Amino acid sequence: MTTPIPAVRSVFRDDLFVGQVALITGGGSGIGRGIADVLAALGAHVVLASRKLERVEGAAAEIRASGGLASAVAVDVREPERVAAMVASVKEAQGRIDLLVNNAAGNFYAPSESLTANAWKSVIEIDLNGTFFCSQAVLPVMREQGGGSIVNISMTLHYRGWPLMAHATAAKAGIDALTRTLALEWAPYGVRMNAVAPGPIPTEGVRKAFTPPPTAEGVPDVFAIEKAMEGYARTAIPLQRWGAPADIGNMVAFLASPAGSWITGAIMVVDGGEWLAKPQSRR
Ligand code: NAP
Repeated sequence: MTTPIPAVRSVFRDDLFVGQVALITGGGSGIGRGIADVLAALGAHVVLASRKLERVEGAAAEIRASGGLASAVAVDVREPERVAAMVASVKEAQGRIDLLVNNAAGNFYAPSESLTANAWKSVIEIDLNGTFFCSQAVLPVMREQGGGSIVNISMTLHYRGWPLMAHATAAKAGIDALTRTLALEWAPYGVRMNAVAPGPIPTEGVRKAFTPPPTAEGVPDVFAIEKAMEGYARTAIPLQRWGAPADIGNMVAFLASPAGSWITGAIMVVDGGEWLAKPQSRR
């Protein structure tokens, strides 16, 4: 048996982020949506940004329906001009940006020897370039306000190397470098930059990775997938459970709160102990 995800009441004050605006890239799905839910529950106005406007609009409507403040904006983080337009529109509509969460990514498993140049570029452009473009674009807004907080969503797979993920691990290693370097460059402006490195969170994309392709006999057995996932948690995650988007959202909230006011350039691993325990992969 694995450990169930505990239903935790928030440990943060309900009004922690009242009057603050949080811009979350990739906020319409998976971990980004979980971060948005946590921040909205603590009073922030969350702005969800991604390429598919209907996706972020739908998520923002759900957050509003449960009593939160939320809006949506379309952006492709690979395009600096579109990123600048997004930041200008959020500033115009909300008046400020207190927190930027660089969460958007486009990762997939692929052998490096046959990875196309376009596939390589796409991941580097979304994960690494997107993080830089969005951070650079919000800087003047945060400077004018006297400060702000940026949290980058990284990973742990590059700590040891992870076959079939050369593109994503390279991009995330770059994000870690940016986190430390921009933290130093922008500290004089009161802008803090930190990162959260999640362990495995069973978002749709991760579930797909555990799902074998359909065979001649038919579609994959959903119980077998659940069993494979449970087996992974039991054998590979010391704390014996998969993570939940709220695990990451809670760390983002901590870093963005006054409790994090002396933390910059830090990369916080939130993974149930997975990377420390994982043997080198031999895929
Ligand atoms: P996900 O559900 O696939 O979310 C990725 C989000 O990024 C989507 O909402 C997507 O929305 C958006 N996006 C992709 N390309 C974009 C672009 N060019 N411009 C703007 N938005 C774009 O993935 P997830 O599993 O929640 O992962 C979220 C973050 O956590 C990523 O940074 C990932 O590397 C990191 N992470 C995840 C895990 C895990 O186990 N799930 C582990 C470690 C790290 P659109 O398609 O609408 O653009």
